[in-house]
Amino acid sequence: MSLAPHGSESPSIRSIARPVYAPPNGDRITVVPDISEKLGLERGSLSNAPVQWLAFLHPEDRERFRTTLDAIIDHKKGRIGDEFRFHTQSGRLLWYALRARPVIGHDNEVIRCIGTMAEITEQKLSEARLMHDAVNDNLTGLPNRELFLSALNSALKISEPDGLKRPTIFSIDFDRYRLVNESHGLQAGDTILLTLSRRLQRLLKPQDGLCRMMGDQFALMLMSEQEPAKVAAFADALQKAICAPITHGREPIELTASIGVATATQQGVTAEMLVKDAELAMHQAKRHGGNRIEPFRPAFRAAGSDRLQMESDLRRAVERNEIELVYQPIVRLTDNTIAGFEALMRWNHPRRGPVSPSEFIPLAEETGLISKLGLYAMNEAANELRKWQIELGEMSIFMSVNLSSAQILHQDVAGDVSSVLARSGLRPKFFRLELTESVVMENPERAVTLLNQLKSAGIGLSIDDFGTGHSSLSYLSRFPFDAIKIDRSFLVDDGPKRDTLLKALVTLGLDLGMSVIAEGVANDIDAQVLRELGCTYVQSFAFGEPRNAEQTFRLLKQQLSMVKT
Ligand code: C2E
Ligand code: CA
Ligand code: CA
Repeated sequence: MSLAPHGSESPSIRSIARPVYAPPNGDRITVVPDISEKLGLERGSLSNAPVQWLAFLHPEDRERFRTTLDAIIDHKKGRIGDEFRFHTQSGRLLWYALRARPVIGHDNEVIRCIGTMAEITEQKLSEARLMHDAVNDNLTGLPNRELFLSALNSALKISEPDGLKRPTIFSIDFDRYRLVNESHGLQAGDTILLTLSRRLQRLLKPQDGLCRMMGDQFALMLMSEQEPAKVAAFADALQKAICAPITHGREPIELTASIGVATATQQGVTAEMLVKDAELAMHQAKRHGGNRIEPFRPAFRAAGSDRLQMESDLRRAVERNEIELVYQPIVRLTDNTIAGFEALMRWNHPRRGPVSPSEFIPLAEETGLISKLGLYAMNEAANELRKWQIELGEMSIFMSVNLSSAQILHQDVAGDVSSVLARSGLRPKFFRLELTESVVMENPERAVTLLNQLKSAGIGLSIDDFGTGHSSLSYLSRFPFDAIKIDRSFLVDDGPKRDTLLKALVTLGLDLGMSVIAEGVANDIDAQVLRELGCTYVQSFAFGEPRNAEQTFRLLKQQLSMVKT
């Protein structure tokens, strides 16, 4: 067989005297020009006996190449159209396409084959890349949702008849991953995601599967374990693999995940249904604060539709005047007088009755409704205090409104505040915003800019739920806060170290030049402890429950008349 060039680079097979594997003598492949050196072989290596020639081919391609040649020589007609891989000496694989046809002699025997060989390595690689990208995730190289679902559907079909090999699906979503992206940058976020996906992959047996659903959400199909105890042990291993610190930059990053688990126990369940169940369980784990494994329960399906209903109800709540603000006094510890109020949202749901903000604020944040609700709260609270001032004279009482992280990200808070103040006529020094530690830490760069803007506009700023988040103390001094609000959990906890902790927190706030508000103070003894520490204010049911606008106005009027008498 002879190979001749095809195109400038490509050599060609030019002749074949006999089938390549046929007994010796004269059987020879000739390649012109010689590409041996390109393959890292000695010059002339390819113009050789067929058996030796075959040795340069990729093992998987040898048999096919041989069969094609056989067929041509047996049938004395047809064409060879084959693609095969050459092993270069350095271990690389080069793809070649061969087009050849037999040349028949007078005796009606194949005397030679002539053809051309073209290198198609680049083309092959890009085809492979395209195929891979179509069904795999670009970042992790893991199968994507479609491929995963189709693999799961096959697994379900096989398991169906006897139910012996049931797949278990884990839906994995990292907790507060946005924080990683925002504080370390998207590129670092991707690298860490890759590290996590490799850790998960290492736990798998060949029959198991992993895919990246989207963002920081993964799905895992466990086939290798069937016994509930073993599945539970696997879930624990999964959680451990995720929690192990990841080294990145100077500080190790520690992550947790919300994991939902669903096993195919029913006949006729589809991949989509099973994955959906696992995701519902995962959302339930999130609702409980994350870092937990939640097995699927059918009740979650109802909760899902409840949520949809709530979401559409919430969209209408503002227009229907179902949202109300109540005001909780913030009380000066030195003389138990009211120094200000925190405005707290209430939703009077027409069918469900009062819905707690702890329930609907997270929903509003997820759905983007928080911008509207938050603006409403600022407006209402500022208007209300201004009304009281007009009635009672401008007393030194402030109004504090909560700000959530979604507002910082999607809303021009500084602009909103200034128009709220302008419209209500309330002076900035009477207006405050409360941001939780986690809100600030989720977006430290954004927060610092915004807080400085607000500060220079003259409004007050409090850091809320202090001590419960992950704020580093060094950060605290970078933000222009006027007050820290010590979270209620520090007072509820009755351990021996409580007073030490309280003292540290109060002193820290005061030393940084801020006032300190202790939340949830339940009795006089605690109030006395705080008073002695120099804590500025308290805010708790014991010192004044949240009241509606009218009741608050009366309370204020009463305080004023007492001062006057
Ligand atoms: P928060 O900012 O920490 O507000 C204080 C919460 O503690 C309020 O709950 C208040 O009623 C409650 N509380 C006050 N004193 C005591 C006490 O002595 N003991 C106990 N156990 N609780 C006390 P509420 O009104 O249910 O609000 C819950 C959370 O909802 C708030 O926590 C705040 O994070 C959020 N929230 C409320 N209104 C708004 C708002 O207008 N905007 C935003 N973004 N979040 C809001
Ligand atoms: Ca608050
Ligand atoms: Ca608080």
